[in-house]
Amino acid sequence: MRTGFPDFRLGNVLATSFTATLTERHGDAVERIPTPKRLVDWLAVYGLVVDSCADAQLELARELRESIALAATAAALGDALPAPAVQVINDRSVQGRAAAILTPEGKRQWQLGPDARVEDALSVIAADAIEIIAGERDGKLALCASPTCRAAFFDASQSRTRKWCDMNTCGNRQKKARFNASRRKDSGPAE
Ligand SMILES: [Zn+2]
Repeated sequence: MRTGFPDFRLGNVLATSFTATLTERHGDAVERIPTPKRLVDWLAVYGLVVDSCADAQLELARELRESIALAATAAALGDALPAPAVQVINDRSVQGRAAAILTPEGKRQWQLGPDARVEDALSVIAADAIEIIAGERDGKLALCASPTCRAAFFDASQSRTRKWCDMNTCGNRQKKARFNASRRKDSGPAE
């Protein structure tokens, strides 16, 4: 790997792509933003450019990430939202500055100031989480079918029947496991 760090799992939805910077929460968890610099790199991929990140800011980011994961999971299950997680999401949303920008194509984009801090970027992520958890966007929250993942993801498919957080990883792994299992069955007791 070029950077020596775990690669990013980049999805279309900001908030759940952010929660996917920790994967396999119910298996061998992989931390994909292990250093402040990796968080800066991740934010830049989503157009949230900040100059620097201190250790304490990385901690803030991870706290927000796990709070979004908890709240989104509860929302996917139809459970009551955990109050501490809601508090963290709201705090991060309030304590940052970002402006909504309308692009020439008629899309909304978030814009940070030229001297943006990590907190400003986190406020955009928190706002995105609030939007999907509150049901303001077309789609629904669901949990990944992989037992070692169980990540909350946002299903915007027409049929709302997506099973995996990510087709290329969890979906693929599951399909391969099924394929191998059926092959073993077909070839009989050949061990
Ligand atoms: Zn998954």
